[in-house]
Amino acid sequence: MTTAIRLVFVVVGLGLLGAVVWRWPVNGWGSLVWAASMVLLTVIRLPYAKRTQANTITDKRAVSTEQLLLALVTIGGTVLPLIHLATGLLGFADYSLPDWAVIVGAAVLVPAYWLFWRSHADLGRNWSVTTEMRAEHDLVTSGVYERIRHPMYAAIWLIFLVQPLLVHNWVAGLSGPLTFAVMYFIRVPYEEAMMRERFGEAYEAYCRRSGRLCPR
Ligand code: SAH
Repeated sequence: MTTAIRLVFVVVGLGLLGAVVWRWPVNGWGSLVWAASMVLLTVIRLPYAKRTQANTITDKRAVSTEQLLLALVTIGGTVLPLIHLATGLLGFADYSLPDWAVIVGAAVLVPAYWLFWRSHADLGRNWSVTTEMRAEHDLVTSGVYERIRHPMYAAIWLIFLVQPLLVHNWVAGLSGPLTFAVMYFIRVPYEEAMMRERFGEAYEAYCRRSGRLCPR
C-alpha cells in the first residue's frame, strides 16, 4: 500500500472516529468504549509491528486465504461498526441494552487488553499479523505462552465477543465475533501445522502441556 493511500485511510478513519464521538448520545456510551478499544488496539500493536519489520519473512502460508480472512475481520470488527456508529446506516437493525451490559463489556476489556499487550510483548519479533515464519524465529513457550498456545487470539476473542454489548446493532455488533470465528477456525490448524514443521518435537511437547485458548 502506498503512503498516499495509507494517508487517505488514516484521514477517513479519524474522520469517522470523530463522528462516532459526536454521535454518542444517539448510540449510547458503549460506542465510546468501543471507539476507545479500537484506538487502544492500534496503539498497542503499532510499536511491535515496527519492531518485527527487521526480522525477514522466510515462509508465508495460505497467502490468498490470509488476505481474505484479514479483510473479513477488518470489515466485521472495524469497518462495519465504525460506519454504522458514525452514520446510523444500519439503524434498522438497532437494539437497546441496559447500562450494565456496557459495564460488563468494559470490565471484560481490561483483562483482554492486558493479555493482548502481554502476548505481543512475549512474542516480540516473532509476531506477524498473518501466518508466516521469520528468519530468526524462536519458539516462545514462556510468559503468557507458557500454558496457552494462542493467548493473542484469546484476547481478540474477548475483545470481539463484547462488541455486541457495546455496539447495539444486530449487524454491526455481531459482525466482529462472527468474522473472527471464521478466521480462528480456519487459521489455527495451518498455523499449528507450520509451527510443527519448523519446531518438530519441541512444538509437539509444547502442545501436550498447553491448551489452545484455556490454560492446561
Ligand atoms: N497464535 C498466536 C500468535 C498469533 S501471531 C497467539 O494467538 O498468541 C501469528 C504468528 O505468530 C504466526 O504466524 C507464527 O509465526 C507466530 N507464532 C505463533 N505461536 C508462536 C510461538 N509459540 N512462538 C513463536 N512464534 C509463534
